[in-house]
Amino acid sequence: MIETIQIPLLSDNYSYIIRDKNTNITGCIDPSVAKDIVNVLQNRGIDLNFILNTHHHQDHVGGNQELKEIYNCKIIGCYDDQNRIPGIDIKLKDSEQFNIGESVFEVIYTPGHTIGHICFYFKDQNLLFCGDTIFSLGCGRLFEGSYEQMTESILKIRSLPDCTKIFCGHEYTESNGKFAEFLDSRDDLLKKKILNIKKDRLKSKPTIPAILEEEKKLNPFMKFDNQEYLDSIKIENISNVENFKKIRIMKDNF
Ligand code: ZN
Ligand code: FE
Repeated sequence: MIETIQIPLLSDNYSYIIRDKNTNITGCIDPSVAKDIVNVLQNRGIDLNFILNTHHHQDHVGGNQELKEIYNCKIIGCYDDQNRIPGIDIKLKDSEQFNIGESVFEVIYTPGHTIGHICFYFKDQNLLFCGDTIFSLGCGRLFEGSYEQMTESILKIRSLPDCTKIFCGHEYTESNGKFAEFLDSRDDLLKKKILNIKKDRLKSKPTIPAILEEEKKLNPFMKFDNQEYLDSIKIENISNVENFKKIRIMKDNF
């Protein structure tokens, strides 16, 4: 069993410490900066064995080198990004499995935000660490990948079980909600969700993890093939990729 500790960092990033309870083997997903991670580990008296990077952006790998020097941990990243992940030791490809103690995760290759982006999926526990691929009510900007790639990546995530908990790289939910509401102001479920988000954020409570079942209903970037939704936001149904592209460009300009 994995215990997850969610750590807010920088202005809106999340890093996650994942500890396998049976063996105490511990990993850290996307350490933006080392200091806060070290504080949490020291307070709990736990060591760090692995760093897991979803992609090469500085706000996800910024703490790599310093943590490696302190803990002598091994750094895991995408095979395709071995030249861009600082200190990488273990290079994984799509569908490869890897153990954190007795807990196993599978790599899901999700290019789009970057071309070497991966997610870490703990199937037995329905946990997905998805970096900047999916956010609650949103998705990552396409810095390197194509619309085709991002559409495919989102479909991969969408095909996971409804109860999957999605741990994203950023707390963007409130601003994403504004765009979702702009597109479809008549969705009562969305309105209710947005009220709850506002309440949580006023108390600085995280809105993450997201639950896949809810994202499938409310996230505009998961509904590009939903005819009823496309009708209500007045987008002509051309193809998954074209529909996704239209919504993504609208968000970029929002
Ligand atoms: Zn990023
Ligand atoms: Fe990021």
